[in-house]
Amino acid sequence: MTAPAQRTVPPLDILDGLPRLGWAAEPTPIQAMPELAAELGIGWLGCKRDDLTQPGSGGTKTRKLDFLLASPPWRDAPKWISVGAIGSGHLVACTAAATRLGRQLEAHLFWEPMSAGVLDNLAYTASGPTTLIYHSSRIALALRRPGVLTALHMAGVPVIPPGGTTPVAMLGLVRAGLELAGQVHRGELPEPQRIYVSLGSGGTAVGLAVGLALGGLRTVVHAVAAVERALATRTRLRRQMHGLLEYLREIGLPELADVEPNAVVINYSQVGPGYGRASGSSLDAVGVLKRQGIGLEPIYTGKAMAALLVDAEIARRENRPMDAWLFWNTVRRPEPMQVVDGWRTRLPPALIARLQQVEGVSGSVRAAQRSRRWFLLGTMATVAGVTALVRMSGYPTLPHWRGKEFTASEAHILAAAASALLAGAPLPDDRTAIAEPLDRYVAALPPKLRTEIHALIWLVEQASTPLGAQLHRMSELPLATRTAYLSGMVQRRDVAGDAARGLRDLVVLGYYALPMAWSSIGFSGPLVPDTPRPRRAIYALLVAPAGRLPAGMRTE
Ligand SMILES: *Cc1c(COP(=O)(O)O)cnc(C)c1O
Repeated sequence: MTAPAQRTVPPLDILDGLPRLGWAAEPTPIQAMPELAAELGIGWLGCKRDDLTQPGSGGTKTRKLDFLLASPPWRDAPKWISVGAIGSGHLVACTAAATRLGRQLEAHLFWEPMSAGVLDNLAYTASGPTTLIYHSSRIALALRRPGVLTALHMAGVPVIPPGGTTPVAMLGLVRAGLELAGQVHRGELPEPQRIYVSLGSGGTAVGLAVGLALGGLRTVVHAVAAVERALATRTRLRRQMHGLLEYLREIGLPELADVEPNAVVINYSQVGPGYGRASGSSLDAVGVLKRQGIGLEPIYTGKAMAALLVDAEIARRENRPMDAWLFWNTVRRPEPMQVVDGWRTRLPPALIARLQQVEGVSGSVRAAQRSRRWFLLGTMATVAGVTALVRMSGYPTLPHWRGKEFTASEAHILAAAASALLAGAPLPDDRTAIAEPLDRYVAALPPKLRTEIHALIWLVEQASTPLGAQLHRMSELPLATRTAYLSGMVQRRDVAGDAARGLRDLVVLGYYALPMAWSSIGFSGPLVPDTPRPRRAIYALLVAPAGRLPAGMRTE
């Protein structure tokens, strides 16, 4: 075929001869985000609004079903089987499709923790023409009904695989890549250097990489894993890529299969506490796009956006060019969908019990925590708070501080504590350097823990008066007095001691994240130098030269 880069008009029509339902017919809008771009130092930043795909409630999954459900065996079957977590967006898309096309859906559900949107999605799936079968975990499901995950049929009923990813379904994303190329061609956006998109089963990233190449764009796909590394390996993506290209040959489009797909960079840095669990940085990223009028959720899209924010920060520091980046929003619209009254009664009894347990337990856990730790910490904070109110101001502003989690005042307190607690060790001239890795570390912790960490920082800072009999807060004490106060606090056998030891451990953690600290303990940096000699792929992910991120986390 002619080299795609030489085409003048991207060939959106090359897939037109193939059967599809005609969903996702119109290009979804590109929304430019100039203020956010300026804030991040990116020349142009935009969002591909796949939350606005039609018909129904939107989402990138619509693009997969567009082709999948128009081809046999799904096209002709009165019923489909599929699988997903209880809050699965894929099951929502399948339910919407079954409703629209007058089919039945047997939905196999496995548990996932509660987060924003999980109950809404479950309510919608339960309200449709669906039969729900509940498995206590993904593993229980794999053991009891392996066919749901691996087969194309079960007892004659066609299975839509997890995430809807099959070769024919990925054609929807090939088309999406061509659609974007058309938008670039029409001047709706500059050619993006990077697309950030969430990575689950991989169909979205793989299909896009092929579609972008066919459209003549050189955009690199940054696929941000929402699932654990073992479920999102490069081998798996390669296998899916192979399946897609084979399929193009099978259906008589070998010239498309000869394309060199665009690069896909897998970014594992945002999985956080695991699949189905929100992280602090994901929730923050949801907030950032909310201010742009775009609704994300914290399980897939929040994590993808969080990776974009981190990478922009890294690129800014390393002075790398950031001409045009695009965030690909894969999630459905956030508006509530139609559900039937009493949808809960349609759930399998074991799932009802599990939900009740969680809804009851989270209340009692909170109560238990309040009763002891929080009571004590609360008392201490009140004592300290009397003086704190008049002493919360007057901190240096630290204009260079760029923390996500800690304020400049907190960075200043951490730096002051470091000077005292690490006395004798070689310290960086700018002590707030110790707060920087901590900032990234703490931002990824669960919200409760983060709240406690902020509390302990302020407790140690302010308790110098009630507990240390000092007139000044900790960070204002002369170094020798500060050192004496902190070593006294660390010895205490009460909550104040807990807080001081917590602060000490934090500071030490931040310190040993700095390469300059390594020589003081005889550590010469990562053990394996970054040599070009071949290594096992998994091992290679863990290796990096001193001061750089391992390959699995790197963005280039
Ligand atoms: C399914 C899904 C993805 C992941 O797409 P894959 O093709 O499975 O990698 C991303 N975001 C949202 C909101 C999804 O529902």
